[in-house]
Amino acid sequence: MRWTALFCLVFISVAHADLDKIRLINAESDPGWLTHARTYSEDRESPLTQINPDNIADLGLAWYFDTGTKRGLEASPIVIDGVIYTSGSWSKVFANDAVSGTALWSYDPEVPRSWGVNACCDVVNRGVAAMGNRIFFGTIDGRLIALNRETGELDWETVTIDPSRPYTITGAPRVVNDTVIIGNGGAEYGVRGYVSAYDIETGKVRWRFYTVPGNPAFPPESKAMEMAAKTWTGDVYWKVGGGGTVWDSMAYDPDLDLLYIGVGNGSPWSRKVRSPGGGDNLFLSSIVAVNATTGTYVWHYQTTPADNWDYTATQHIILADLEVNGERRKTLMQAPKNGFFYVLDRTNGELISAEKYVPVTWATHVDIETGRPVESETADHSVESQSTSPASLGGHNWQPMAYNSATGLVYIPAMQNMEEFSTTTDFQYNKGGHWNLGRNENPDDPFASIDPTMLLPMMKHFMRGRLIAWDPVEQEEAWRVEHATMWNGGLLTTRSNLVFQGNGSGKFVAYRADTGERVWEHDAGNGIIAPPISYEIDGEQYIAVMAGWGGAVGLIIAQPEAVGGGSGRLLVYKLGGKTVLPASDAPQAPFPIPPPRSDDEESVARGSFLYNKHCFRCHGVGLVSTGLVVDLRYMTEASHSLFDDIVLKGIFSPLGMVSFADVLSTDDADDIHNYIIDSANNKYDDDQSFEWWINTRLWVYDKLGAVISIFL
Ligand code: CA
Repeated sequence: MRWTALFCLVFISVAHADLDKIRLINAESDPGWLTHARTYSEDRESPLTQINPDNIADLGLAWYFDTGTKRGLEASPIVIDGVIYTSGSWSKVFANDAVSGTALWSYDPEVPRSWGVNACCDVVNRGVAAMGNRIFFGTIDGRLIALNRETGELDWETVTIDPSRPYTITGAPRVVNDTVIIGNGGAEYGVRGYVSAYDIETGKVRWRFYTVPGNPAFPPESKAMEMAAKTWTGDVYWKVGGGGTVWDSMAYDPDLDLLYIGVGNGSPWSRKVRSPGGGDNLFLSSIVAVNATTGTYVWHYQTTPADNWDYTATQHIILADLEVNGERRKTLMQAPKNGFFYVLDRTNGELISAEKYVPVTWATHVDIETGRPVESETADHSVESQSTSPASLGGHNWQPMAYNSATGLVYIPAMQNMEEFSTTTDFQYNKGGHWNLGRNENPDDPFASIDPTMLLPMMKHFMRGRLIAWDPVEQEEAWRVEHATMWNGGLLTTRSNLVFQGNGSGKFVAYRADTGERVWEHDAGNGIIAPPISYEIDGEQYIAVMAGWGGAVGLIIAQPEAVGGGSGRLLVYKLGGKTVLPASDAPQAPFPIPPPRSDDEESVARGSFLYNKHCFRCHGVGLVSTGLVVDLRYMTEASHSLFDDIVLKGIFSPLGMVSFADVLSTDDADDIHNYIIDSANNKYDDDQSFEWWINTRLWVYDKLGAVISIFL
């Protein structure tokens, strides 16, 4: 109650204050949620305590808003003076009254659907930023846009990328000083990473920090690039791009005027292909501190030197002051994909500690003296493929963590997983919307010949999602909650001893922050991957979260326990909320009788290989769609008859299905078509005896998987 009273007073005094630099720096004492992770320290801890473990049974839905999409929703909304601003798929932006839910305005940047093929992991957007009377956001096709915060009208718009390269923006911008800062993605395809600061008034570039070196024929852009260039070899990296995209995390320390950026994986993934003569390949998989005013390099810490596994360090960065060995330290914390939880000194990048938060096989430990990981015998997959944990999805992906200053715990939306990594000896660079990973893509690759009925139950054992409460000082787990799906929501913690997380099974759940006891849940009717937020208006505390299944896993890997394909919504809760969600709106489409299957088994096998190389990124691993994009086994007679025109001539390009004629011949398209028809017939036949078939296989693989999983 004390907090509530205090925040009412603060709220009255700042309600009409400008959203300026000072108010953003002091966001901690604001009843809203002014910036991406509430404050510049990005801890996602709300000081609000009205909703607590004693009364949480009364928490109910206050209102909801349909975003009009069934693709993934990853945004963290922001709340300023009674208005909640958020973003949805295809980079649309929405403003609603934060108390009543009344729609105030929306803005559609009209991203060409054909650009969607350049998005590795769904056409998602992680939120907007605000300063003064403007709202800023990035678009999937690489634009940075400023809108009028009151009307939603376009103020300015600037293209931040080279449109001839497959760049995308999915991350939320941050406003620092009088600039808006944004990075980009595309490292699976082949781009050169950078982060840029734009003038908030004019949209003009103030500074740009490249994360990897460019063409050695030109002089390096900065001293940092001069240093980085010495850690790369060969000529593949700069032709493909090198990677190192800054596609999500940033944090800012106003006292030090340091901006911390998380840098992504290499393009291509396999280091032997990317930099055949070796080298650490700076600044891949690094946390880099740059001067926020000038964009100049200050320090870096590389979590995965010579990245070989898509181990990005773009995961959420939290700044907190921790008591370490009796000393108060200004720290920076991150749980990147590589499976180690890092605590650094944020003034100088010194490693304080690093321990495994999930099973890790690529390295035995991190040497505190050198600050470097010690790779295991299985780290090198250049000669033989290696089963490695974590997988390229990471021990933790983009879903934000939260740090509770009272419990001293960091809550991690973690994953346990493994993947077969390999290196090609015959790398061919495919420009445009194609992945260039440098992995072995011969048809014997197990990934290329996945039997979906086998994959799903196996995943239950190899791929797990869990909520971990982590003590960053002791570097050990305090408690954990196991989830039914691997892919789940980001986190919010409150100073009233609560942790909120949505999950892939469509539940929005609250736990006690100190013990992990499950104290409340609400059926959201759709898988949740976004992080919740909390705000207070007129003495009432609200919790808000976007519910919309999708993202990397949601789009491509069908999980039996996941709930997807429902309407993507913004859900807002308060004590005594009584709003009821409409019933599920995803009726099962009737199964059209597929055309007769081909008796050319070789063609079907080739089609399976080609599908799992080019098509699975949208249509699902093993032809099992997750409900977000068309399930090709359910293709209509009309689509079958137009197959070549769709795949090779791009007649559905305005819907997002672009032509693949640059990498597929007519014969290739025929093989893929035969594979789809074959799988459609399998599915059709299976449905006749579905129960017996699936249950038997589930039982077999359940037993087999349980035995194998002991070795994880
Ligand atoms: Ca990646």
